[in-house]
Amino acid sequence: MPRGSSLRYVKFRASRGGHPPIDEPAAAPDYCSIATAPDRRRHPCADRPPGELQMNRFRRPAFRAGAVILLAAVGTAATSPAAAQGQLNVICPVQAEWCNLAAVEFEKETGIKVSMTLKGSGESFAQISAEKANPKLDVWFGGTGDPHLQAAELGLLEEYRSPAIAQLHPWAQRQAEQSKYRTVGIYLGVLGIGYNTELLAKKKLAAPACWRDLTKPEFRNEVQMANPNASGTAYTAIATLVQVFGEEEAFKYLKALHANINNYPRSGVAPVKAVARGETLASVSFIHDVVTEAQAGFPVRGVAPCEGTGYEIGSLSIIKGARNLDNAKKFVDWALTPKAQALGAQAKQYQLPSNTATPVSPLSPKMADIKLITYDFAKYGSSAERKRLLERWDREVGSIAK
Ligand code: PLP
Repeated sequence: MPRGSSLRYVKFRASRGGHPPIDEPAAAPDYCSIATAPDRRRHPCADRPPGELQMNRFRRPAFRAGAVILLAAVGTAATSPAAAQGQLNVICPVQAEWCNLAAVEFEKETGIKVSMTLKGSGESFAQISAEKANPKLDVWFGGTGDPHLQAAELGLLEEYRSPAIAQLHPWAQRQAEQSKYRTVGIYLGVLGIGYNTELLAKKKLAAPACWRDLTKPEFRNEVQMANPNASGTAYTAIATLVQVFGEEEAFKYLKALHANINNYPRSGVAPVKAVARGETLASVSFIHDVVTEAQAGFPVRGVAPCEGTGYEIGSLSIIKGARNLDNAKKFVDWALTPKAQALGAQAKQYQLPSNTATPVSPLSPKMADIKLITYDFAKYGSSAERKRLLERWDREVGSIAK
């Protein structure tokens, strides 16, 4: 860390005001030490395609005739009150297990049919921006908060003050205030490093403990981080490094890291899944995502880097011009309840929930010993800053041949 840096660290304490006051889970076990028989399950988002429309199909005459009939039918259905009350289109950057469980449970409770699209945080932002004139989505459920804040600033999100906001931790309420009630925090996740303990032992290497360790020669072609344009996890990493080291040092670091990177997948959870499968030694990941893999029986551990680290406030927003606005509000109210938030842990997602009454899983990362920075969400969630940092990363890092 450069001298004179204004970086401040926060130690989380349940009683502490001003910074995310997390209720620490009582007697939390060491989430890093869990390793049983590997489950070779493949994650459905691991190789998520960029989600391009196949426009050529729309040019075929037979397709066009069918499409006219279909559109007429959809048009009629859309104006009928039953359809208007019964639908909700949700885009969801968290892991598929949680997205799908939320859809099933919400539908069970309300009878509202949920159509779920799975995309990373940056890709969700891009889709919502592209559809601005004709929104197809109603709700954006989860994913890192910075792109939600950027979308709020750009007028892409609907203002909504859920009565449930009063029940949330101050960090989640602050996310709502900061966006003028166009988004709200639903969980908090801490960024860190994931590594494969078996591969490390095989190579007789010391476990990484600091950001700097990932740039060592012994990690050459052994690290994965997602592409920050598509992934909120990777953008959080860039913003974190800039806040920890200062911007120039951070970009020097990112260039050095580039030499050790073997792949930049689109999804933020893909790198730790590659670590879990033994395809790579280490990853830049949210620590709760490492816990998920350890719980599935893979030989992985997570560490909060010694220089300090950042965090995300996973967020929830209604899309401006949502066609199913009343249902979108019902979904937001529901998603902020302890019952709905408990679905996260049921789906093996161990972020810290935003409702103060939601039980915290003992497997959630222990916050007390993590050197956490005071992440500047106003700055790094602003449209100009996110765009500028991503462009700089593309220009100076992502586009450089190795
Ligand atoms: N999955 C989990 C469990 C997360 O905590 C997050 C962050 O909010 C994401 C996915 C976001 O994924 P991505 O980095 O692809 O935007």
